[in-house]
Amino acid sequence: MAKITLRQLLDDAAERGYGVPAFNINNMEQGLAIMEAAAAVDAPVIMQASRGARGYAGDIMLSRMIDALTEMYPQIPLCLHQDHGNEEATCATAIQHGFTSVMMDGSLKADAMTVADYDYNVGITRSVATMAHWIGASVEGELGVLGSLEHGAGEKEDGHGAEGEIGHDQLLTDPDQAVDFVRATKVDALAIAMGTSHGAYKFTRKPDGEILAMRVVEEIHRRLPDTHLVMHGSSSVPQALQDMFNAFGGEMPQTWGVPVEEIARGIKHGVRKVNIDTDCRLAMTAVFRKVSTQARGEFDPRKFLKPAMDAMRELCRERFEQFGTAGNASRIKVIPLAEMAKRYRSGALDPEFKNMTAAA
Ligand SMILES: [Zn+2]
Repeated sequence: MAKITLRQLLDDAAERGYGVPAFNINNMEQGLAIMEAAAAVDAPVIMQASRGARGYAGDIMLSRMIDALTEMYPQIPLCLHQDHGNEEATCATAIQHGFTSVMMDGSLKADAMTVADYDYNVGITRSVATMAHWIGASVEGELGVLGSLEHGAGEKEDGHGAEGEIGHDQLLTDPDQAVDFVRATKVDALAIAMGTSHGAYKFTRKPDGEILAMRVVEEIHRRLPDTHLVMHGSSSVPQALQDMFNAFGGEMPQTWGVPVEEIARGIKHGVRKVNIDTDCRLAMTAVFRKVSTQARGEFDPRKFLKPAMDAMRELCRERFEQFGTAGNASRIKVIPLAEMAKRYRSGALDPEFKNMTAAA
């Protein structure tokens, strides 16, 4: 099957009321695990690659790998998305290598550390959206700075993340500004800041509304009912995986992720894309630790990778079921990029504000 765009997939998700996990990928084993899980439950797939992942695998390897996966699983629509593009060139080269969707994260400057101002964010995001839409690819923007409401700081992962102290006003997306941002940039999806952060150490306790601001999601959805919202840093960091990791010599301090029930609540309020990386990493590395502890003479990498893939596949399958993604793949007929480009050009895919309240 041809690769699907993020816009088409999330439009379908919105129409049917489900969410789609976006799993990060940088190697073959992750790709196979995700596709096996998707095929088992008939779920459409979003795979995303960060700049770090592109550097690790190489653009050619990554794009050929995705081609191989679509050929192996022709019944599964697969969106390949650039995670946290830091500047125009990152997004343009992603599209050049077959990505059907890009995130332009203009909440930070091109160094992926310095917090950018609103006008900079609007300008660069609009420019990427214009370019991507010419060829039919989709664009995710970000408004607000991702980071912890507990410590008032960004979290760096793969070299990406705000540096220094960040105020609460920046760590929570402003709903009025969100309306203005979508109108000005014409993004297809909007990542919002509401207390989630990257990496394993998201919360020092089970999160409540003080540190995981689901009310912000609801407020933005009320004003932008037709905009697809994206939750970043939404691994749940299951206790069982932390325990397994630590039982076999790991030293991971106790941590809390985003509970699946909070994500499900988000999906009821416009969240369509849910970014998950840590959970997949942890599922695999907990198994690496187990094998290396229990079979100390083992030196065949496959004896580590195979059970690690099994663990990741089970995790992905669970998320497809929990988010309602399961059962939707075979129904979707992929719209080619050229047709999407035509629709953008005609204005048919412009953001809609028909249900807007007087708030803006
Ligand atoms: Zn992110």
